[in-house]
Amino acid sequence: MYLLEMNHVKKAFDGQGVLRDISLSVKEGEIVSIIGPSGSGKSTLLRCATMLEEMDGGELNYLGEKAAWNGPDGKAIYAKGEKRKEIQKNYGLVFQNFHLFPHMTVLKNITDAPIHVQKRDKEEVYSEAMELLKKMGLEDKAEAYPCQLSGGQCQRVAIARALALNPRILFFDEPTSALDPELTGEVLKVIKSLADMHITMVIVTHEMAFAKDISDRIIFMADGVIVEEGTPEEVFSSSNERTQSFLGRYG
Ligand code: ADP
Ligand code: MG
Repeated sequence: MYLLEMNHVKKAFDGQGVLRDISLSVKEGEIVSIIGPSGSGKSTLLRCATMLEEMDGGELNYLGEKAAWNGPDGKAIYAKGEKRKEIQKNYGLVFQNFHLFPHMTVLKNITDAPIHVQKRDKEEVYSEAMELLKKMGLEDKAEAYPCQLSGGQCQRVAIARALALNPRILFFDEPTSALDPELTGEVLKVIKSLADMHITMVIVTHEMAFAKDISDRIIFMADGVIVEEGTPEEVFSSSNERTQSFLGRYG
């Protein structure tokens, strides 16, 4: 069974097709990178996968549970209420610009949702959060505020915050593109370490060497369609003209 299944996803903005019949499945434990030019629909795809954006049509399943499906008129219908909440527990999303709460300490940023949304035991959540901070190399920053941290540290807090909800799959939308080049490495290293924790990941990135190194599969998107997908070896040695021209720019 697939952890994530997206079938025939369609999304338009102002009549302009941004996702044009995209199908994508991810198995438990798989690491998938999505690459492609700016404006090709990568963020929209992640936003549809995480229900931040509603698709116009298509299906979305997590572990075989229907999050969205096509109604009689071909328009997507979404699971609601408790069902939707259950489905949302499967995934987390890490954004390009961290999206930390500026008025909360690092520890509070991480523990707020597990305590107040998931209603989990406070002590247990705090102790898990400290473990996560240790894994991120930030145990001395628990009481700091986001404005006191570097971009790389903020992104590592954002990753810890996503992990605190125990997702089975984590989506990353260009996790290093807002960072100064010298801070990129520390974040990529942390993401790489998650592979050892058996977290399934879907990563939108422009870091080609990283994508090649970490991914089981690479998907190349352009103009709202998947142009090709395959192992890093297959995609990076592709003879497809569009793939070659894109990779040439990043090579
Ligand atoms: P990528 O992440 O690959 O750069 P996006 O998914 O952000 O691409 O955007 C794909 C296209 O959809 C772009 O042309 C963008 O302008 C458009 N788009 C994205 N979000 C919206 C929105 N909320 N309203 C209108 N147009 C949007
Ligand atoms: Mg984007």
